[in-house]
Amino acid sequence: MGRKFLIVPLLLVACGCGSDPTAAGPATAGGASGRLRILATTGMIADAARRVGGDLVEVTALMGPGVDPHLYQPTARDQSQLKAAQLILYNGLHLEGKMAELFESLSKQKHVVAVSHDLPTEKLLSWRESAGMHDPHIWFDVTLWQQAVRTISRACSEADPAHAADFEQRSSDYLAELEHLDRECHELADRLPRDRRVLITSHDAFHYFGKAYGFDVVGIQGISTETEAGLKAITDAVDLIRRRKIRAIFPETSVSRAAIERVATDGHVSLGSELYSDSLGSPDSPAGTYVGMIRANMENIVKSLQGSTTDSAH
Ligand SMILES: [Zn+2]
Repeated sequence: MGRKFLIVPLLLVACGCGSDPTAAGPATAGGASGRLRILATTGMIADAARRVGGDLVEVTALMGPGVDPHLYQPTARDQSQLKAAQLILYNGLHLEGKMAELFESLSKQKHVVAVSHDLPTEKLLSWRESAGMHDPHIWFDVTLWQQAVRTISRACSEADPAHAADFEQRSSDYLAELEHLDRECHELADRLPRDRRVLITSHDAFHYFGKAYGFDVVGIQGISTETEAGLKAITDAVDLIRRRKIRAIFPETSVSRAAIERVATDGHVSLGSELYSDSLGSPDSPAGTYVGMIRANMENIVKSLQGSTTDSAH
């Protein structure tokens, strides 16, 4: 949608001029509501910010349900939201591949924080094709996302120090809920015998999930959706389906279905329901929150891969 992204920083800089009321400063003096105005890139981050901030914050998500962050370019309409925000939270690790320059520019004017910032490097998975880069899909390991929530809480406190204790309390409540979610994920995964835990999806969003919950993971389109699935990736996936007698493979809500449908046809395997990969479901659906999204995915995966045990490997 448009190629406005190079223009945006210039516009913001041009009208920055030291009189920008949204520049970093006493955040509580902000909008009419007096609440801290947060702009989050993805729905997962926006949800965490709402849980941490409660009624002390006003959160806008830049990317709605089904939107692919790898390819997202801010529109002219997003400019006013970016400008009005007092705190901008983004995933980082190149998830928002087209927005790095914009965040760099905005960080000179206000609080701009990557929620992946405090994750220890040894916990990050490498992005295989590009040396030195890391897989950005950290929300699929609930324990890593807990660290991101701590970072969000700290960012809120830095932007609005008067309410630091409130943010701390809410964040600790939410972290306890995520602790429970992580246990639930392990329990659901354990319903599947180890040899059935193979997850084939459209793009490589699920490696943290696989590592955390014991699944072999294959994304036929690579880590970013910028590259299309090659023929070899498709034939390799079909071979794997035959070899491991896989019951189902999975399309995703934010990625084109063409390649995964081709694999399903060639591999004579059913397509499971769509997984929520890089965006939440619609706000009125169970997957409209991070907890709901993770639970919906895990239930979908376990149910679709479960089958009679008659042909399970020895
Ligand atoms: Zn992705």
